[in-house]
Amino acid sequence: MNDCIFCKIITGEIPSKKVYEDEFIYAFNDIKPEAPVHILVTPKEHITSAAEVDEKNSYLIAKCFEVIAKISGEKGLNGGYRIINNCGHDGGQTVFHLHFHLLGGKVFNDL
Ligand code: AMP
Ligand code: ZN
Repeated sequence: MNDCIFCKIITGEIPSKKVYEDEFIYAFNDIKPEAPVHILVTPKEHITSAAEVDEKNSYLIAKCFEVIAKISGEKGLNGGYRIINNCGHDGGQTVFHLHFHLLGGKVFNDL
């Protein structure tokens, strides 16, 4: 029994605003945007966090970054953008299915 909310979004069981999908990756708008563009990019395979990346699944991280490069262009983020991964409780992770936040449409000054 998989209770992961992002797995359910990926299968369509929970609705989302899809931005991109392929065999490996699903990207959708964050429900609580922190910037004009706030997209979550996630592997379809359930990986709990960045701490679970290994030699078998690390190709999915590369695919996430390929998708980020593609959709940031489509969203007109030509001046740049921010990519965030929160890892684990201390890293502020709240959904334990590995994802990258793609944030853009504003200038980020702080770390
Ligand atoms: P994190 O804190 O890095 O684990 O990020 C989890 C993100 O998922 C937060 O920015 C939430 O706003 C977002 N989120 C939670 N539930 C949903 C949902 N059903 N649809 C879209 N985004 C969601
Ligand atoms: Zn999951």
